[in-house]
Amino acid sequence: MTPASNPGAAPTRREDLLARLGQAGTWDLVVVGGGATGLGVAVDAAARGLRVLLLESHDFAKGTSSRATKLVHGGVRYLAQGNVALVREALHERTTLLKNAPHLAQPLAFVMPSYKLWETPFYGVGLKMYDALAGSAGLGPTEFLSRRETLACLPTALPQGLKGGVKYWDGQFDDARLALALARTAAAHGALLVNYCPVTTLTHRDGKLSGLTCRDSETGREFSIRATCVVNATGVWVDELRRQDAEALKRTVRPIVAPSQGVHAVVDREFLPGTHALMVPKTADGRVLFGVPWMGKLILGTTDTPRGDLPREPRPFREELDFILGESARYLVRAPRREDIRSLWVGLRPLVKPGGDDGEPTKAISREHTVLVSRSGLVTVTGGKWTTYRAMAEDVLEKCFDAQLVARRPAGVTTNLPLVGAPSEGAVATSISAAPGLHLYGTEAAEVGSLPGSDRHLGGGLTAAMVCFAARHEYARTVEDVLARRIRLLFTDAALAAQLAAEVGALLQAETGVDPQAAAFRELAASYLRMPA
Ligand SMILES: Cc1cc2nc3c(=O)[nH]c(=O)nc-3n(C[C@H](O)[C@H](O)[C@H](O)COP(=O)(O)OP(=O)(O)OC[C@H]3O[C@@H](n4cnc5c(N)ncnc54)[C@H](O)[C@@H]3O)c2cc1C
Repeated sequence: MTPASNPGAAPTRREDLLARLGQAGTWDLVVVGGGATGLGVAVDAAARGLRVLLLESHDFAKGTSSRATKLVHGGVRYLAQGNVALVREALHERTTLLKNAPHLAQPLAFVMPSYKLWETPFYGVGLKMYDALAGSAGLGPTEFLSRRETLACLPTALPQGLKGGVKYWDGQFDDARLALALARTAAAHGALLVNYCPVTTLTHRDGKLSGLTCRDSETGREFSIRATCVVNATGVWVDELRRQDAEALKRTVRPIVAPSQGVHAVVDREFLPGTHALMVPKTADGRVLFGVPWMGKLILGTTDTPRGDLPREPRPFREELDFILGESARYLVRAPRREDIRSLWVGLRPLVKPGGDDGEPTKAISREHTVLVSRSGLVTVTGGKWTTYRAMAEDVLEKCFDAQLVARRPAGVTTNLPLVGAPSEGAVATSISAAPGLHLYGTEAAEVGSLPGSDRHLGGGLTAAMVCFAARHEYARTVEDVLARRIRLLFTDAALAAQLAAEVGALLQAETGVDPQAAAFRELAASYLRMPA
């Protein structure tokens, strides 16, 4: 049995994680940041046999990586912009992800309804090109739909003026659970991953980065870490470590991230029943709108609004919510209103400004992400998207080897590396569009189902056994960890999540012995239901 297929062998007792963190020695690679990017790097490096440590200041995927539109996609939008190489790579990565984590990433059919005669042939031809770029990695052929067929796929699409539609295939996923699967896959290959452990300072010797200091958020204990290579994968927050690194060398750096926020509103599935997602390629003001069936609900979004600050819990602007509701009303028979929203959440995109700094060879921004190596050897990676996390990780490792920050150059193996819990593709019976349940655990479902409390249903698909499993095997420390990212109730039904906080907190505290911060979670859940004035 490979380590990845036996994740139960890797419990996540915090005392054990911190004991390992305190051991002397030098890590081959320390990754700062436990989102899609950092976790992808950790899996890649650990699977190559390197000694890997990953430190996350909050919980895995607490940043941008739990707030995506949940699409595993080539990016129809990028094709319209003529970015063929980016789309081809993303389509290839889409297939790899669907193969390596079929319990968490699956094909999804999208329909673009046409209200003007030219739209069906115009978008249809573009999507045929999408199919052609995917080649053998295609998930299904693009189809031109009649008016009747369009309404069969999108039963609540506005019938007035509807001419027909185009159906195409992409993928969807559970972003936060995929992040956990990556964390546990890296751990199964020997990496040490610690959440709630922010990196506070970088340490340098003779002008070269030699390690860092991190702090256990629960106890305040500090750890000095030695590393031959440090990867800064802190998403929209990368400039903070870059600035620290430069200041140690008495230099300055220009920020590279220009954050842009995206909002999603979640409503009940009755607004768009069925198994197809709605895609509007060009709304009234030229933006894209998705209506994605997910976890028994419907996600509507998203927006793209530049902002200058980097809050941990950004909130939507009024104009963003008006856009989502206003545009949804133009395509759905029953227009969702503010009071129909079950959860309203926001993510920050780490968009990369062009141009690097003196001394930092900016590698061609040929894809959306950027990798920089500073004079001291700090490797910074940001940008890109969830779908391409694996290819991004390979790029980062290549840069680390090229800069001779890692002594050995073992080959990468992640193309064919199943993630923890991955069943064989044909064995997946329940879609992640459906209400949450044991199916999200893949091959571990039987183990979770056999734990005490598996018949104690707390609500929203969550059982007491799932809370135990989250504490024992999935690094969960707080109520938020469980209700936002182990099961996605904060994102799909914030009111129900708040109701479950006390019970989940009691179960969690019995497992971990620490305060699970139930009251703080209830406040957070209330903010996911607060509409912008
Ligand atoms: C609204 C929206 C929708 C999107 N939809 C999609 C989609 O449908 N499909 C897709 O493929 N992509 C999508 N994306 C893009 C994708 O979500 C991001 O590219 C990806 O999640 C970025 O991951 P990351 O690891 O770089 O950043 P993050 O997930 O933000 O991870 C960075 C981590 O670093 C940690 N950190 C920061 N400072 C420190 C420190 N000092 N010490 C330790 N840890 C630290 C943070 O806590 C955080 O967890 C979307 C993005 C947005 C904003």
